[in-house]
Amino acid sequence: MIKKLHKQLKNGEITSTELTLKYFSKIEKKDSDILAFLTLTKDLAVKQAQAVDEKIKKGEEIDLLAGIPMAIKDNMCVSGERTTAASKILDNYIAPYDATVIKRLKKSGAVILGKTNLDEFAMGASTENSAYQKTKNPIDISRVPGGSSGGSVASVAGKMAVYALGSDTGGSIRQPSAFCGTVGLKPTYGRVSRHGLLAMASSLDQIGPITETVEDSAIVLSRIAGRDKMDATSAKSGGKSYEDFLTGDISGVTIGVPKEYFGDDLDDKIRAIAMKAIDKFKKLGAKIKEISIPHSEYALPVYYIIVPSEVSSNMARFDGIRYGLSIDNEEKSILNDGTLLETYLDTREIGLGDEVKKRMMLGTYTLSAGYYDAYYKKAQKVRELLYQDFQKIFNPSGDGVDLIFSPTAPEPAFKFGEKMNDPLKMYLTDIYTVTANLVGVPAISFPIGTVKEDGKDLPIGGQLMGKWFGEEELLNVAHTFEITK
Ligand code: GLN
Repeated sequence: MIKKLHKQLKNGEITSTELTLKYFSKIEKKDSDILAFLTLTKDLAVKQAQAVDEKIKKGEEIDLLAGIPMAIKDNMCVSGERTTAASKILDNYIAPYDATVIKRLKKSGAVILGKTNLDEFAMGASTENSAYQKTKNPIDISRVPGGSSGGSVASVAGKMAVYALGSDTGGSIRQPSAFCGTVGLKPTYGRVSRHGLLAMASSLDQIGPITETVEDSAIVLSRIAGRDKMDATSAKSGGKSYEDFLTGDISGVTIGVPKEYFGDDLDDKIRAIAMKAIDKFKKLGAKIKEISIPHSEYALPVYYIIVPSEVSSNMARFDGIRYGLSIDNEEKSILNDGTLLETYLDTREIGLGDEVKKRMMLGTYTLSAGYYDAYYKKAQKVRELLYQDFQKIFNPSGDGVDLIFSPTAPEPAFKFGEKMNDPLKMYLTDIYTVTANLVGVPAISFPIGTVKEDGKDLPIGGQLMGKWFGEEELLNVAHTFEITK
């Protein structure tokens, strides 16, 4: 998709300005139903497009991403633009600088159409936790797009952006991609700088591309990856030109299939589609091996201790003084005594939604003296055991595998409201995705089939997890699957 558009831009078949305006008219037509965007950045987009058109006119070389319209999840800072994290507490917040990923995209000549909806501060799995709107799944508008990057994914699936950026803390790029039929990549922890991403859980968060094809995913990753001095956790080894590794040949690759991910909670129709995908990998020359991730049953409980702990710390900065909303002298004030504490309490009470508050409270509890050892420390220990499971699974000197395959989510996109009153059910939609974040490996979700429900073909995603910093192999295997009918 990106390469094709790039050619058209270079041949002069279409200008970037025309392409950009075409996308805005698509947004105008469709987004009143889908509600993927929170803010449109039309002035910025048109300026960026014109600059690329100028370059083309002068015969200058342009990057593959130059002039191509894309969307950004609204938890990444774009200088001078509104950045809300879909929270009322940042309703009037204008970002004073560009996130590193934005800087890099701008350098490539990307055209930024706007900022997309998400679960408030990326906490959720359906985008229903947004303080502003409920984004719909473009495949079936009675269903959620998944979350938390629901707006970004819906913008791509609804053809309102060529690609988008999302963030993934426990599945937020991959699970919505599975629900809407897009390709979603969570890179290795440290592969992409988090500078300028509004932090949810800093030891798990990664930014990644949401695209129509695996090739596009590789192209976008190449441009956003690499060391950044503004993020101490960004890896020293720079990014690569990942698109150069898409050979279409996967013979000799060993793919592990974890038995724990094919248990009773997996929907039968999805199991059948996953088994077919495994057959296809075999036909393509891959070796398939049943494996075990012994500690995988603890992944979700560990995730829901570590995430709230880090959330409670990260959210401390939203106090009504430093950023965004500040409530002073509210009629229904909690204290109503004119103190600073009153501002803190009232701003957070009014500015934050229930899921965010719940995680802040839980995390404060799990980090408090007396409970720290019992919860947070224990969770970190089990996280280490999971990490060791993966070291064994990928061990090259033993009978290790190269990649791990499973469905992305245990069921297809669900209907609005279906899980809002049952948090455990909502959390379970991430059962196969959180582990990659806990151990830091890269993982990709890509379409592997559809199931018919209410007369609609709902997309199903397959997930491949790769070795730490093994994005080239991961992308090549997904790409080969995708281009083989
Ligand atoms: N659904 C998961 C959660 O609510 C993952 C969110 C994410 O990856 N940002 O925490």
